[in-house]
Amino acid sequence: MTLVISTLNTLRLGRKSVFRYPLDPVPRTAVLAASFRQPRFRPSYPVRVFPEGWSAEVSAFAPAAIAAPREQLLSLAAAGQPPILTHALIAIAGRADPLLPTADRARLWRVFRVPVFEQIIKANGELLAAECEAHDGLHIEVPGLSWDGYRLEFSVCGCGRKTPRLTAAEPLERDRSAAAYAR
Ligand SMILES: [Zn+2]
Repeated sequence: MTLVISTLNTLRLGRKSVFRYPLDPVPRTAVLAASFRQPRFRPSYPVRVFPEGWSAEVSAFAPAAIAAPREQLLSLAAAGQPPILTHALIAIAGRADPLLPTADRARLWRVFRVPVFEQIIKANGELLAAECEAHDGLHIEVPGLSWDGYRLEFSVCGCGRKTPRLTAAEPLERDRSAAAYAR
């Protein structure tokens, strides 16, 4: 094991950009996104940035988790030999993007068999909203932004946090009413 596993799940990758892995500790993670930069003096970071996307180099890095724009995750899922992961997928969306459709989530799960965590990240790498381990919406991380076009959930999350979350309209709604009905 050449990589030092961080006990903090937040890593600075660039001036404004902070990459937050949804759980702790951070496993070996390949970040395939041009919004992040590899920190120059911290080769021991478990996170490595590959701004050009998937390549033989990423494959050789053998990531346990991948963070990438959803299109890239879906195209990896469609590849002949998708990478074998053990930890997680982090689906990166932009500010105006709709949340990851349930069908895409299901496809990613079928191929990779690891949980998907969606994050909304600005082009400069700033984290705006992030899904937690409760998988019930994306916690808003930057207060005061307008979230027109998204559905907001204000109930306490399963993770215990009380910050509002962006949620997908129907599938979560259905799960919740099913859960309420079962009570
Ligand atoms: Zn939560």
